[in-house]
Amino acid sequence: MRVETLGDGEPEVAVVAAIHGDEPCGVHAVERLLATDPPVDRPAKLIVANERALDAGVRYLDEDMNRAFPGAPEAETHEARLAYRLGEALEGCRVLALHSTQSTAEPFAVADGVHDFARQIVPRLPVAALVDSANFVEGRIFASAPECVEVECGYQGSVGAAENAYDLVRAFLKAQGVIPGHTQSREVPVFRLFERVPKEPGSRHEVHVENFSRVAPGTTFASVDDRAHVADTEFYPVLMSAHGYDETFGYSAERVGVVG
Ligand SMILES: [Zn+2]
Repeated sequence: MRVETLGDGEPEVAVVAAIHGDEPCGVHAVERLLATDPPVDRPAKLIVANERALDAGVRYLDEDMNRAFPGAPEAETHEARLAYRLGEALEGCRVLALHSTQSTAEPFAVADGVHDFARQIVPRLPVAALVDSANFVEGRIFASAPECVEVECGYQGSVGAAENAYDLVRAFLKAQGVIPGHTQSREVPVFRLFERVPKEPGSRHEVHVENFSRVAPGTTFASVDDRAHVADTEFYPVLMSAHGYDETFGYSAERVGVVG
């Protein structure tokens, strides 16, 4: 784990990249920011978490790090030991954790409920949506960093995701008073996850709907070979993609309001 500090003193703000080793966008953003050597008004930590997975070009070595929090110093897996160390490094910090996805190019935020920190920070980030994933938080970073918002920066490995990650980090650091500059607040729609959408084995998987766009009852939203998956009720797809996860198309969500 690499920890860089901008400015002097004990940081209360942190940015975390590479919780997943196959999502390099956050690392590009951190390195680009360090290269600009920006003037800072208060200190911040910039952390590259799973360097070993990053070097190996894999999501993780032993287990998904974002299911391994809070971890333990003597845990069996590399990721659970690392999760514990990261949790210690993040103590007392407000945190932005950078991820990327197979599901959509446009950035969105994810939080463990619509808490005060999410309400304050998300409207100041360049994101299309806030996903409330409070129903699905087992082992995630929120267990160690209660004031944390995750952002999905765009398609995994894309130039666009790296660009978006840089813009997101700068907006976050401005909004937290770390680097000078103004951020404008806007309304951001909130979607609450309610169910995992399972995906059965097959030779051809397809998704026929757009993430964050309403799916009406009766719509064929996905298919596996010639078998159609039809919506029973209205929902909004989130993190839905044909090839993102082995046994899951993504999640269904409901639209529950706005922040900002
Ligand atoms: Zn990730």
